[in-house]
Amino acid sequence: MKILLLGKNGQVGWELQRSLAPLGDLIALDRNPVDGLTGDLSNPDQLRETIRQVAPNIIVNAAAYTAVDKAESEAELANRVNGQATQVMAEEAASLGAWLIHYSTDYVFNGEGVKPWRETDVVSPVNHYGASKLAGEQAVVASGCKHLIFRTSWVYGARGNNFAKTMLRLAKERETLNVIADQIGAPTGADLIADVTALAIRQVMTNPQLAGLYHLVAAGEVSWYDYAAYVIDFAKGNGETLAVEVIKPIPTTAYPTPAARPLNSRLDTCKLRNNFSLHLPDWQSGVTRMLREVLNK
Ligand code: NDP
Repeated sequence: MKILLLGKNGQVGWELQRSLAPLGDLIALDRNPVDGLTGDLSNPDQLRETIRQVAPNIIVNAAAYTAVDKAESEAELANRVNGQATQVMAEEAASLGAWLIHYSTDYVFNGEGVKPWRETDVVSPVNHYGASKLAGEQAVVASGCKHLIFRTSWVYGARGNNFAKTMLRLAKERETLNVIADQIGAPTGADLIADVTALAIRQVMTNPQLAGLYHLVAAGEVSWYDYAAYVIDFAKGNGETLAVEVIKPIPTTAYPTPAARPLNSRLDTCKLRNNFSLHLPDWQSGVTRMLREVLNK
């Protein structure tokens, strides 16, 4: 089985290099050309050529334009990478009879209410990044290719930049940290996403009716404020020297950003857990593991 992985050096892509390796012959690309192949999603024609040359059985797309605020001023590029390039992958997957595994976001929802969003809920993104990711999802479905789309949220990895690492850095520099307390979600490890992806691929190979859209996040929920407090408590409890003395909860309205953020990022994972007989661990277990790795504790 030949697997083409795009975005191999992102948080999720890095972990997929590990989790997909035992499934088949893995060709992993980033945006730089290697042996005439290029995984640059800003060039959909070259991407199409690369997919035709590789002729994979499975395409796994971990590449995306993920700069949420910048997407407001770079809408065309975000659309090309998250929308048009995904459409190219989907069209090529359909003509090859290949599977396309793709990732999306809770930012396709408008963040209203407090109920965890289900796969069947109405989408209505509040920022351009969310709209571009939604365009990608819709292109996959419209192509008719065999697919799995995993919507996830608040992704972190030991490698790469993420909220927890930013909090650790700021906690060393500042006595007071202001952290948003009214956005709620589930921090989800890139390693968990990659492991679930590999397990789901194994199952859809023998049970293709499992194809479709799934919500994939760690169990439980937390605000950015409580997540920051958890990270800082762990660091303090493990002997890190920090300058921070006060963590102050603030509302989203007190921290204006170019892109609006949904308040309710909760995702309901029942469909994924039931269809694939999987258990999703609580967010604290993955975050603790990442912190131990990052802090070498
Ligand atoms: P990262 O930002 O860590 O990685 C994205 C990768 O895409 C990077 O390696 C980046 O490469 C690559 N990339 C960006 N533009 C291009 C391009 N034009 N051509 C080729 N590669 C490109 O993202 P994550 O691993 O966190 O995200 C994985 C998936 O999960 C994405 O689909 C994302 O939308 C989704 N997601 C992420 C969330 C998060 O909190 N991070 C939340 C919800 C969903 P380079 O480093 O060279 O720019």
